[in-house]
Amino acid sequence: MTLEQYEYDATGVVQSRLVACPFCAHDFTDYEARWEHFYTEHTPKDAGLTPLTESASSPRGVALD
Ligand SMILES: [Zn+2]
Repeated sequence: MTLEQYEYDATGVVQSRLVACPFCAHDFTDYEARWEHFYTEHTPKDAGLTPLTESASSPRGVALD
């Protein structure tokens, strides 16, 4: 499984985090920034999404340069 849950003893807060990338064979280290891997190694197409440049006319009206 690529997702694990960690419970903080002091607060009882449960946090979920990825231990492996769902799009490639990359295993994350404990303190590695997950967002940075996705930002540098993948594109929206890897998740079956439309690239931002093709969704400029979306209902959100995201402005793109
Ligand atoms: Zn990956």
